Amino acid sequence: ETILDIAKIRQDFPILHQQVNGRPLVYFDNAATNQKPLPVIDALTRYYEGYNANIHRGIHHLAEQATAAFEASRRAVQQFLNAKHWEEIIFTYGTTDGINLVAQTYGRKFLNAGDEIVISGMEHHSNIVPWQMLCEERGCVLRVIPVDDNGELMLDEYEKLLSERTKLVSVVHVSNSLGTINPVETIIEKAHAVGAVVLIDGAQASSHLDLDVQALDADFYVFSAHKLYGPTGMGVLYGKRALLDAMPPYRGGGEMIKEVTFEKTTYNDPPYKFEAGTPNIADVVAVKTALEYMDGLGKENIAAHEADLLHYATEQLQELDGLRIIGQAKHKIGVVSWVMDGIHHQDTGVILDQQGIAVRTGHHCTQPLMQRFGIAGTTRASFAVYNTKDEVDRLIAGLRRVQKMML
Ligand code: PMP
Repeated sequence: ETILDIAKIRQDFPILHQQVNGRPLVYFDNAATNQKPLPVIDALTRYYEGYNANIHRGIHHLAEQATAAFEASRRAVQQFLNAKHWEEIIFTYGTTDGINLVAQTYGRKFLNAGDEIVISGMEHHSNIVPWQMLCEERGCVLRVIPVDDNGELMLDEYEKLLSERTKLVSVVHVSNSLGTINPVETIIEKAHAVGAVVLIDGAQASSHLDLDVQALDADFYVFSAHKLYGPTGMGVLYGKRALLDAMPPYRGGGEMIKEVTFEKTTYNDPPYKFEAGTPNIADVVAVKTALEYMDGLGKENIAAHEADLLHYATEQLQELDGLRIIGQAKHKIGVVSWVMDGIHHQDTGVILDQQGIAVRTGHHCTQPLMQRFGIAGTTRASFAVYNTKDEVDRLIAGLRRVQKMML
């Protein structure tokens, strides 16, 4: 049993206290985005009420206050990832934006015809499509690490894919569809042995696992704030300083320059080189609060509670006739996906919603992974710190009702 006071934690999340279709809301769509605690909502309000101003160039009081808060968030993220230098933290609009940034800058400069990019069979579309676009433009070749029946990456096959042609490996830390925690440390080590750089998609890992980019030796690490109790529209790209120095800029505009004339423009140093235009100041500021909120609860306590819920939900789900869990990896975060005989996942989602239970249904932006399992989609429940076993019981009762109505 958890040492966290979940009832008290739930008081921090105003959105949870509402009725949906006449029933108390059960929110099990946390892998898509999780809910925001009051301190985060307050941080946004405090910014707009107290010190909204454009950053970096201003010399007036509010601009200095906003700049200080913005840069304090960068240090907080540096600490969160255990990055060596604050200059290695680039603020983006999210995971998708971070991956596109690397593909469009590092990729376009350093990858050539015949070079190979290795991804995995469980990638989110945002870690597939940017590389396909790059391959199309540069003539590179995409290779894919296969997934086994348990939803784990086949590491022996991965090793066979690696060669001196491999220039970049981009793999998800934790699968959003299956919950699988991938052995990214090993994946990175093997990629480095052939001289490839590695990007890790940490979208699902960031709110569940302890992160240490130096221990991992990741070259790039990306995540989104909205999946760790922070605001939408804000994300982080970590990159090793030497790589960021060597990369050309992404978008052109204000902030990313040192000097502009019509003849020639010189670019700013990282991270500013990659932060053109007015950034998402309020949301960047509030991320620090979200990280502090998680720290206050203790990430290991959050993970332990979610593991309890996963264990309980998995046991209960397996009691249902004709239900098959997709993804039975040994190491998982609190995500469980399933299919039910004779019932389309969309019907499941609609009938659960009628009972106030929010789950996600469909391919979860991982169509190739669904094809691998020969299914069109799953129903997925994903847990956050505020979820309870009572809510899992509601889900199970809801699914019995789905079966009664559909079969
Ligand atoms: N990768 C993974 C594993 C994800 O779960 C998600 C979000 N569902 C993304 C990438 C994309 O994140 P965002 O939409 O915040 O850019």
